[in-house]
Amino acid sequence: MSFDFADRVERVEPSATLAISNKASELEAEGVDVVDLSVGAPDFPTPENIVEAGKNAMDAGHTGYTSSNGIPALKEAIAAKLRDDGVDAESDEVIVTPGAKQALFETIQTLIDDGDEVALLDPAWVSYEAMVKLSGGSLNRVDLAPYDFQLEPALDDLADAVSDDTELLVVNSPSNPTGAVYSDAALEGVRDLAVQHDITVISDEIYQEITYGVEPTSLGSLEGMEDRTVTINGFSKAYSMTGWRLGYLHAPESLVSQAAKLHSHSVSCAVNFVQHAGVEAIENTDEAVTEMRDAFRARRDMLSELFAEHDVDVPVGDGAFYMMLPVDENDQEWCAGAIEDAHVATVPGSAFGSPGYARISYAASEERLREAVERLAEHGYL
Ligand code: PMP
Ligand code: GLU
Repeated sequence: MSFDFADRVERVEPSATLAISNKASELEAEGVDVVDLSVGAPDFPTPENIVEAGKNAMDAGHTGYTSSNGIPALKEAIAAKLRDDGVDAESDEVIVTPGAKQALFETIQTLIDDGDEVALLDPAWVSYEAMVKLSGGSLNRVDLAPYDFQLEPALDDLADAVSDDTELLVVNSPSNPTGAVYSDAALEGVRDLAVQHDITVISDEIYQEITYGVEPTSLGSLEGMEDRTVTINGFSKAYSMTGWRLGYLHAPESLVSQAAKLHSHSVSCAVNFVQHAGVEAIENTDEAVTEMRDAFRARRDMLSELFAEHDVDVPVGDGAFYMMLPVDENDQEWCAGAIEDAHVATVPGSAFGSPGYARISYAASEERLREAVERLAEHGYL
């Protein structure tokens, strides 16, 4: 039989990041040694104390449903963490989700109707566009590429782009895919525009713990932003917990009670024992987080030096574990060639709205990163 699919699913493509990582896995299954720099997943094991907490929670019988928005201990730990960041948060303004992706999905579904305008700062992580399209929204994209991926010099462009018709703006600092950490002046510029045009802002802070020598500011901590910011965060990156699926949103109570309806009718709740492990992650994992951060920083520095040796100047951000390598205008062809010939997997910049680049995730060992650069150079990709 032929199905009559809903328009909303036909409007979107599968996630490009996950599609390329699947392609890398397929080649590996055929016996090819692929250096996979595509998917953004820390390559460290989840810290032992978190694993223990998860196991203990299972042994203690925390295996049933929890209250839909999350267990009180985790919601309180999250609210306390947000208060440390200067966000005026209470635990009943938090929804604990299976991954930050679900938190973003629920937020966008809650706010965006057919035709509502959502502004993105390009390059922007692949799933924002898809989530907006799934909700029927229209996209308004502001390009940061001409400004070395920084937001502050692009504020005039943003001011020209947004208007009273803009419903939502998505800000992601530290950024996937550029690693840029936006300055306080940039965030204050966003705040001024959001207040002027009455725009709700999603602040996706999932890479917040992964910054090098700079302190990222939480957008929701700025005066004027408390009642219009949805802060998104999660455990995947900071604590190397991608497969545990744990994240959250914080927003004013009025928004939370609407999003909670979607949450209760879709996922019911995040996994019970995983939520218990999340409390341990927030409260007792500083040392492991610092070790991972230091390792990412060393890799970033090594990688940009290696590219410089090949006369490739890569804009380097102060956070996350990504960089955008300038490549041919046809970045899709470049990435397809790089994986086929050099067996190095990267994601085309065009998937993020910025053609002419390939995103590299440097969440891989120094040895594999060296190998990747050597292979790219050997096969004429640098
Ligand atoms: N936001 C950004 C910017 C991301 O890169 C990711 C990557 N996975 C997510 C949200 C979602 O993360 P998760 O669902 O694993 O918590
Ligand atoms: N966020 C990561 C990435 O950009 C993981 C994959 C995904 O969820 O898109 O590679």
